[in-house]
Amino acid sequence: MPEANPPSPHAPEVSRPHEPAQKAPAVKEVHIIWVTAGLSCDGDTVSTTAATLPSIEDVVMGNIPGLPKVHLHNPVLSYEVGEELMKYWYMAAEGKLDPFVLVIEGSIPNEKIKKEGYWAAQGTDKETGQPITTCEWIDRLAPKAWAVVCAGTCATYGGIHAMQGNPTGAMGLADYLGWNWRSTAGIPIVNVPGCPVQPDNMMETVLYLLYQAAGLAPMIPVDDKLRPTWLFGKTVHEGCDRAGYYEQGDFAHEYGSPKCLVKIGCWGPVVNCNVTKRGWMDGVGGCPNVGGICIACTMPGFPDKFMPFMDEPPGAKISSAAIGSYGRMIRFLRAFTNHTSNNEPKWRHPRPELTTGYHPTTYAPPGKSPQRRSVFAKL
Ligand code: SF4
Ligand code: SF4
Ligand code: SF4
Repeated sequence: MPEANPPSPHAPEVSRPHEPAQKAPAVKEVHIIWVTAGLSCDGDTVSTTAATLPSIEDVVMGNIPGLPKVHLHNPVLSYEVGEELMKYWYMAAEGKLDPFVLVIEGSIPNEKIKKEGYWAAQGTDKETGQPITTCEWIDRLAPKAWAVVCAGTCATYGGIHAMQGNPTGAMGLADYLGWNWRSTAGIPIVNVPGCPVQPDNMMETVLYLLYQAAGLAPMIPVDDKLRPTWLFGKTVHEGCDRAGYYEQGDFAHEYGSPKCLVKIGCWGPVVNCNVTKRGWMDGVGGCPNVGGICIACTMPGFPDKFMPFMDEPPGAKISSAAIGSYGRMIRFLRAFTNHTSNNEPKWRHPRPELTTGYHPTTYAPPGKSPQRRSVFAKL
């Protein structure tokens, strides 16, 4: 076996045993109580299992440097069921699970304004034997939570269940707790809308809060709709693969076309969502990129303000008409230039003479004047 080279005297010192590689987290453990018992289809939990930046597995297995140990309690994902699972809910409500992040999935069926019955519940009250409603859990858990995150549009703004005429009184969590509500750590409700939530948006937000809990990140920045600013600051249109077609006034009039979908119902120009940039799973997909109109599922007014789906948005009629006239002229000019650009220059030939078209414009051989010629003459 060859002998190992001796270390170079100029090599940097790369490891110092017994010295911590980084600042230790401010807390050793954090629990996540994930309530799926809003009016919910569990779609946000299922969606989040597709996250890769980071994955749920990396967070709970301790694979991310600097994080405290994370215990995830989610009725869909946890191994525990029944009372084994519910014990964490009771411990959190009694202040025995500190700190914990409360995740709410599904809209809040507010029995305080709809007293006919209850719409959603989880677990059974030991004293009364009655189901514990979702609102009751929120009232017990939110005041003790280190941070509260809403997963998906139902939990953030009410979503589909909060449509006009619904019998449940459903609403988003900020409507229920108040938009100025703050957690025990002084953090506002953090909304991650989407129907379902984009997986990496959800896990990146959770990761940010875990770093904040560890004392390794400043206060999470959110906008006036309580969305993380770095995730929801741009529109669908600004990241869309089809934006080049829009800019040329080239519109699809039926599904299956690669062109801009605004005429068949895409709301992308006015919707805050990053899936056209980020994709759905591991960078793949992103509604209009792959042929689906944006129906504004991340927006506080979803779905009522954006229906009927598949009709051209009223506000788009003026802008698409204006872009249409400008785009026809631009397309014509670009087609002409595109044709020219697709031809090789005329000096690429096998003849012996050099015909590069090069004509000096600033100097000339003795006895000759510099020639000034149009750039098009060379082509
Ligand atoms: Fe289901 Fe969509 Fe509501 Fe999430 S936001 S619970 S995916 S309906
Ligand atoms: Fe914009 Fe929608 Fe057209 Fe994409 S498909 S360019 S988001 S209007
Ligand atoms: Fe929802 Fe539109 Fe974003 Fe698709 S592009 S996820 S429909 S907001």
